[in-house]
Order: sequence, then C-alpha cells, then structure tokens
Amino acid sequence: MNKARASMEHLYRVFTAPEGRESKLAQIEQHLSANLADFLSRHVVASNTSLEDIEHHFADFTVPEEPQFVSDHAEILLEKLVANSVNTYSPQFIGHMTSALPYFHLPLAKLLVGLNQNLVKIETSKAFTPLERQVLGMIHQLVYGHNEHFYRAHLHSANYSLGAFCSGGTIANISALWVARNQALPPKGSFRGVSQSGLHAALKHYGYEDMVILTSKRGHYSLSKAADVLGLGRHNLITLPCPDQTLDPQLALQKGLELQQQGIKVLAIVGIAGTTETGHIDPLDELADVAQQLGCHFHVDAAWGGATLFSQKYRSLLKGIERADSVTLDAHKQMYVPMGAGMVLFKDANASNAVRHHAEYILREGSKDLGASTLEGSRNGMAMMLYASMHIFGRQGYQLLIDQSIEKAHYFADLISQQPDFELITKPTLCLLTYRVRPDFIKEVLSRFPDKRDEINQLLDNLTVAVQKRQREAGKSFVSRTRLATGKYHQQVVTVFRVVLANPLTTAEHLNDILHEQLHIARQTQSWTRLQNLANQLTTSV
Ligand SMILES: *Cc1c(COP(=O)(O)O)cnc(C)c1O
Repeated sequence: MNKARASMEHLYRVFTAPEGRESKLAQIEQHLSANLADFLSRHVVASNTSLEDIEHHFADFTVPEEPQFVSDHAEILLEKLVANSVNTYSPQFIGHMTSALPYFHLPLAKLLVGLNQNLVKIETSKAFTPLERQVLGMIHQLVYGHNEHFYRAHLHSANYSLGAFCSGGTIANISALWVARNQALPPKGSFRGVSQSGLHAALKHYGYEDMVILTSKRGHYSLSKAADVLGLGRHNLITLPCPDQTLDPQLALQKGLELQQQGIKVLAIVGIAGTTETGHIDPLDELADVAQQLGCHFHVDAAWGGATLFSQKYRSLLKGIERADSVTLDAHKQMYVPMGAGMVLFKDANASNAVRHHAEYILREGSKDLGASTLEGSRNGMAMMLYASMHIFGRQGYQLLIDQSIEKAHYFADLISQQPDFELITKPTLCLLTYRVRPDFIKEVLSRFPDKRDEINQLLDNLTVAVQKRQREAGKSFVSRTRLATGKYHQQVVTVFRVVLANPLTTAEHLNDILHEQLHIARQTQSWTRLQNLANQLTTSV
C-alpha cells in the first residue's frame, strides 16, 4: 500500500480532485445512490456485536499523526462504523421515532454539503434565507392559518421572524421558552429586563417569589433541560400526574392558581401533541383556556404529532394548537426529513424580537439575518430538505403517510388485543402504542388475586425486559421499551413494549412476525416458567 504524505500537494488533491471513480469512497457513493436498501443489507451486518467490542474499534485517543488516502480510510469506515450501525431503514425496526427516509434526500444531502451555505447571515446564504423564511411561513400557516395579509407583511420582513429553524425539538422547546421568559420579564422603566439583567434581578423587580413551568409527567426531557438553561432550575418544571396519559386541564388550573397564591409566576403551560412515550395528545383547546386564565404563555410541543396537521382526517386531534403562543415541530420525525430539522413557530410575529440580538459585523440592525433571533449560530440549509419534501409529497402525500401510519397502529392494536398472550396497554392516538406479553394463564389470576398483583406485575416486567433484549440481540426486529403508570393497574408502573409505526414500508406481515417472535422468545424465559408455577400454585391452593 502506498502511504499518503503530509504535503500540500496531497492536501490540495483532498480538497479538489477525488482519487478517481475507482476510489473506494466513489464506489460507496455509487452503491448508496443506486440501491440504498441493498447497500444497507450488505454493509450494515453486525447487528449483534456487543457494544464493548465496538468500543474496541474506537479506543485510540490520539490524533492520527500521518495522513491517509481517502480510499484507505473509506475501508476503515465501512468495517468499523457502517457494519456496526443500526439499520433504521428496516421495516422491522419499529421501536423509535427514527425511520427510513425517501430516497431523494441522499442526493439533496450532497447538494447541501456541496453548497455549504450558512443560514446565520444573508451574506453566506443569499437564496437559502428567503427559502427558510418561506418554509417557516408554510408551516406557520399550517398551524395558525393567519390571513394572507399577515404572511405578505411578515414573511420576508427584516423586523420579524415567524419562528426559527433549528437542529431539533430540544432547541425548539428551549427557544420557545426563552422567548416566553423574556416576554414575561420585559424591560420596564429603568429596569432592563431579564435578558440584560438576569433572572434574579428580574424576579425581584417584578416581585415574584419564583418562576415555574407546568406540564405533564409525559413532557419530554428537553423541557427539563430548558428549565435548567433558562435559569429556572429543573425543579421548577412541574410535571403533573397523568393517569390517562394526558394533562388534566382542571389539575393544571388548580396547581397554577395555588402557585400564583404563593407569589410564584407560572411562566408557561406546555401541552404535548404526541407524547414521546405513548403518542397521546393533551386537550390543547382546554389548556389554552387555562393558560388564558392564568395569564401565562401557552406552548405546544408538537415535535412528533405536528405533522398530523397535514391530514384533513386527523388534524382535529390537535384542535386548539392554533391558540398556542408557540409551537415546536420536528421535520425529522413524521415529515421524513433527515435529522437536524426542528422548528419553533410563534403566533405573534413580534414574539421572537424578545430574543433579538445584534452584532456589528453581522446581524446588523435592519438586516434580514436569521441569526439575529436564533439560539444557534452557524446553521446549514436543512430547510431545503423540508422545502423539497413539501413539494414532492404535497399536503396530500403527507396526508397519506400520516393516515396510513395511524391506521396501521389501529390494525396492530387490534391484532394485539386478539392474542391471548398479549395485553394492549395504551391504545394508539397517533401511530404509537404500548403493550406487553401477558400469558393467557396469568390473566385470570391477575384479576382474581388482587394481593398478588404486584408480584405478578413484577414477573411480567421481567418477562417484557427479557423479550425486548433478546429480540434486539437477535437482530431481526426491534421494539423499544419503557415504564408507564397506567390507570388500569391503579397507577402501578409497568414495563411495556413501545412501538412507533412510522416507517411506511412496515407491513401487516412484519407486525405479525414480530408478535410471533416475541411469543417464541417469551416461552423460553425463566420468567414465563415462574409465572406458570405461580399460576398453578394459586389456582390449586384455592
Ligand atoms: C423528539 C421530541 C423532542 C425532542 O426533539 P429532538 O429533535 O430529539 O431534539 C421533544 N418533544 C417531543 C414530544 C418529541 O417527540
């Protein structure tokens, strides 16, 4: 093998000329473009390698001293990295919110890198800035449906932005609550506002004992990060219990009033449109009323569920979202855009001015630089991916995708309910559901012996964990698992399989196979045997 030399000549070639079409990287590129599914099935192969073994591949902690040829390096990437990746495109991979993408994103990703635009300022993104503003406007219109005059006046205005594009739901949630915080503690008279003077001075100025955010136990952990970075502290994210998986507006109101009586400012109520664990949607319209009564900001985290707005059939599930002061959406979830595409939108075009920032060399006053009101600095042109998707699918195409996901989830829920050895735990609202293995022989025992319920549920938890792990290790299918308190078991927390049916390529047959495999695995576990023994013991002793 020739060795690469650290010379300017070598570096120049790396920047400009590929090593030719026969180079390994060029071959990878061709294979990827020609047939992605085939590429993945050939190269993403080592699904049951242990994490420890993989870590051995990545054990060096010194910067490589000498350069490498691109081709040689491509070999290493294939062997160490690609082989051990997770095939999120697989139709049997139904455990997380990450799934297959439409093929056109591959060449578009190349275009994106090829152009390397920076959306922080117009000077490095001339056409991309107007495009991003348009995309934000389209999604804004989908959520809020303001009139034509509103969009004509604000879409490309230097003085407003309707929202912000960002890397994902986490940054979107932080951005929304950042705006809310600055609006709740604005400059007044000689006081310069929380943005300039900090939280301590602001709370003192306004005479608040403290500041909190209200949401349900199902709130995404990014809300807790937001409470942390905004200076409120994680304890001040108050998560209310939700036995029926959604936030009870009465409970939120009661808690809010209670806090206000103690001189504590409720910064915001966060409603969730599509919880990460079960896909439930909070009663947004009623929560909007509560926020109004409490005089606080109403934020809706629709990172997952927001795309449901494309469906005329199901968009009414999100009724009330149009009353939210801010909304988070993730295009890299149900809009099938590659990761790194989140959005926050504000009902009021003026809202984002609460965090507007100017600097001398960029983001000058009156400039249209998007960076003036985004949390992130340098950003790529991901908005192009959503722009392309919205044109290539159209609203109608997205509607089909959303509808078939939800309907598939209903099909799977019915299928689970018909199986004597499974139990559906949460029914799908969107395309998520949870269930567990619950052998038929234990079903009656579970209801007949209430004092044994904890013990039985503990064994069932172990059974679910064992099945989930072994199925994952076998590498054919993947469902995730979580722990939920459910009304069905008097708020006892049980372990469940969690399924997200986002991949349009997942079929009924795949779902049947997954249940089959789970039952097959379950019957071989110790927990199954223990449950059998317990059932025998209990039923014969009576
Ligand atoms: C995924 C998700 C988030 C976080 O989004 P990221 O893109 O992972 O940062 C926040 N809230 C909800 C409801 C989500 O589903």
